[in-house]
Amino acid sequence: MKAALIRRPYSLDIVDVDVPSVKPGEALVKVHACGVCGTDIHIYEGAMPWARLPLIPGHELSGVVVEVGEAVSNIEPEDKVTVDPNITCGVCRYCRRGRRNLCPNLEAIGVTTSGGFAEYVVAPVSQLYKVPKGLSLEEAAFAEPVSCCVHGFTRLSIQPGDDVLIIGAGPIGLIHLQLAKRCGAGKVVVAEVNEKRLKLASELGADLTVNPSEERLSERVRQFLSGKGVEAAIDAAGGSAPLDLALSCLEPGGRLLVFGVASEKDLWKIKPYDLYKRELTIIGSFINPYEMDNALNLLASGAVDVKPLISHVIGLDSLEKALKRELPNALKILVKP
Ligand SMILES: [Zn+2]
Ligand SMILES: [Zn+2]
Repeated sequence: MKAALIRRPYSLDIVDVDVPSVKPGEALVKVHACGVCGTDIHIYEGAMPWARLPLIPGHELSGVVVEVGEAVSNIEPEDKVTVDPNITCGVCRYCRRGRRNLCPNLEAIGVTTSGGFAEYVVAPVSQLYKVPKGLSLEEAAFAEPVSCCVHGFTRLSIQPGDDVLIIGAGPIGLIHLQLAKRCGAGKVVVAEVNEKRLKLASELGADLTVNPSEERLSERVRQFLSGKGVEAAIDAAGGSAPLDLALSCLEPGGRLLVFGVASEKDLWKIKPYDLYKRELTIIGSFINPYEMDNALNLLASGAVDVKPLISHVIGLDSLEKALKRELPNALKILVKP
């Protein structure tokens, strides 16, 4: 089968490899669509220490089951499925205490083991979710990023009426925007430097869009909210600059979700006094421990509409261009291997 292989940073080859064999408890899935994620770019650039090279990346995927191993009863060939890439051990302290995303034995399809930028992928059936009726396989490929957003969003515990700021209007920011609008937020402000993305944020329901390279965000937000800041902010960009921007817009007692993936080497300078005096809460969020079902419900009901987020559908041959950020006006790029 054809697959995209990263042997070392900044090197991706399209190679011919054997179709993986199926062990008991596993299924072989013919990949229909696999989304390109910021994580894939970090892996390509050698900035994801968690990744294990050489690697076939790709962790946001959907497809059709073509073969199942022994001891499999819940899934059968021809089932349309999406894949939760994050495989946890089930026996460690974290897995047993309801925090399995913190499992020290975590493996992830497309990060530590072969992923979806290939014609076929093999996965334990515990990782497969049947695609609800009416949902396309293209949309189902978003189940993983939506589930990660649901996890972060839940941790941020937005209260009805909270005004919310989202920094970054890439696919993740635009998913968070829809969650905020659907989950009872008051006003939702989206900050983004790319004007095309800002326009899409407006179309998807943002009450105010701001380009922080042209306006002082904290002033614009307070002007819009009659003098106050936001109760909750989500960094969907990654890195210290967006986090500073978010902090500058928070109300006293506000909460900040660190969702965007920063480079592992980034540092962030904050004033402890500021946290103390304004009683701010900073919340981390990592992957999607129990949210795949909810994500599929949100997608199937249309509460989260990901169709407008698909900017490109490409073949494996164009994947390296995508990872080099060379595709113009990219939002979510889907690869069809
Ligand atoms: Zn991802
Ligand atoms: Zn574990």
